[in-house]
Amino acid sequence: MDVIIAGAGPTGLTLAIELQRRGVAHRIVEASPHPFEGSRGKGLQPRTLEALDDLGVLDRFLAAGADYPPLRIHRPDGQQVDWRMDELHEPTPDVPHPNALMVPQFRTGQLLADRLTELGGTVEYGVSVTTFSQDAHGVHVTLSTGETVTTHYLAGADGGRSTVRAQLGVGFEGETFETQTMLVADVRLTGLSRDAWHIWPGPDGRSQKLGLCPLPGTDLWQLTAPDATSVTDALAEVAPQVTFQDVGWRSMYRANMRMVDRFRVGNVFLAGDAAHVHSPAGGQGLNTGVQDAYNLGWKLASGDDKLLDTYEEERLPVAAAVLGISSRLHKRHSEDPETALRRDDPVLRQLSLNYRGSSLAVDHRAEPGRVRAGDRAPDAPGNGRRVFDLLRGPHWTLLAVDAPAPTVPGVDSFTIDAHDIYDVQKPTYFLVRPDNYIARVTEDPADLATFVP
Ligand SMILES: Cc1cc2nc3c(=O)[nH]c(=O)nc-3n(C[C@H](O)[C@H](O)[C@H](O)COP(=O)(O)OP(=O)(O)OC[C@H]3O[C@@H](n4cnc5c(N)ncnc54)[C@H](O)[C@@H]3O)c2cc1C
Repeated sequence: MDVIIAGAGPTGLTLAIELQRRGVAHRIVEASPHPFEGSRGKGLQPRTLEALDDLGVLDRFLAAGADYPPLRIHRPDGQQVDWRMDELHEPTPDVPHPNALMVPQFRTGQLLADRLTELGGTVEYGVSVTTFSQDAHGVHVTLSTGETVTTHYLAGADGGRSTVRAQLGVGFEGETFETQTMLVADVRLTGLSRDAWHIWPGPDGRSQKLGLCPLPGTDLWQLTAPDATSVTDALAEVAPQVTFQDVGWRSMYRANMRMVDRFRVGNVFLAGDAAHVHSPAGGQGLNTGVQDAYNLGWKLASGDDKLLDTYEEERLPVAAAVLGISSRLHKRHSEDPETALRRDDPVLRQLSLNYRGSSLAVDHRAEPGRVRAGDRAPDAPGNGRRVFDLLRGPHWTLLAVDAPAPTVPGVDSFTIDAHDIYDVQKPTYFLVRPDNYIARVTEDPADLATFVP
């Protein structure tokens, strides 16, 4: 066995797909006897949509989800005001999916699990990782079934209360606000139009009392009620016109913002909520977990120890930056809830996150342009095939802008005409990693001769 993945949330499932499509022997075990049933993380950011495109499932997500609806604020004086968390952006040739897509988390899980099954993988439900130890022979993992398996690598994608993280004993620094709780529930109701996400501020007009968000592709609403303990009480207090029918999933969220100080200990890796827990403000948690898995998958498949070190090198600073943003947004909620609901900071879309400082990013040019080594490879129109069509799949790609495509063993090489988007004046070569970040940029094809994927 090469890899054991603990946890089949969005992070673990993405990692399993990445391994499965590369033919890496793995097992993915999930403590729960069934798939997750809640709407919890419902915002997929544009960069996540690009990863899903690479995994071959974007069309299914677009069919299952919808753009964020406008917010409808029901003010205490009876006035209703509509506004948007973020303007809807028009697609551009380099960013074909510029807006966050709303998809309830149970649907995201289902679509990812279906993709895994389609590729020949299986989630083992009702099986958890209980203990492990590691030595020169590998990681020895004991499962709740009593079975012990020796594997090269263990990936802890086992969520905020991660057993893997606890056993590694790594630091998990940050803040927990014991007194700040929020009831989150999936409900059916009548008496509200489904064309908006309804928000009721408290009597002071500041704190948020109740939120009801229609969930696309379902007849459900996601209810969020800070400080409430009962759905009935939360609705009766500010929205008596709403008739509540029944509750599906419900959970009590406690504000918790923390991250680990190591993403790797020996051959054990942490990813997703196991490595960083966010405030829901800004919709970053699930997205950051999917991006962790997207970064880790091809590196685990390579089995290259030095390459695997770059997982922490690249993802720890990103997690810290994202956590900083979502924590700031969280704190604004108690100060000015209306502006705190704005989501117009472009960083939240995760398109500008980059690995420019990474040891894997080498730009040979004296004067790099706008698009550099370490950046996400932008899309661009082509002759019938877009750049994203060329990148889709588990391979390395060489994009030769305005130059014949050279042969590099193990790399799919293409000529593209995209000097505007790739911001180059002369023939330039962009070597793109399997997770579609640019590893090398050069104007001299001889610089690629030493490259081994
Ligand atoms: C109210 C709310 C709203 C949110 N909104 C957003 C949003 O809009 N956008 C966003 O990006 N994020 C959002 N999030 C955060 C998002 O839900 C999480 O970040 C996401 O679920 C993390 O995915 P994960 O796979 O890392 O962990 P999880 O989804 O927690 O999955 C971990 C899995 O591991 C399993 N497990 C646990 N222990 C073991 C073990 N020992 N062995 C095997 N399996 C185990 C668990 O059963 C679980 O299924 C929100 C969260 C909340 C609470």
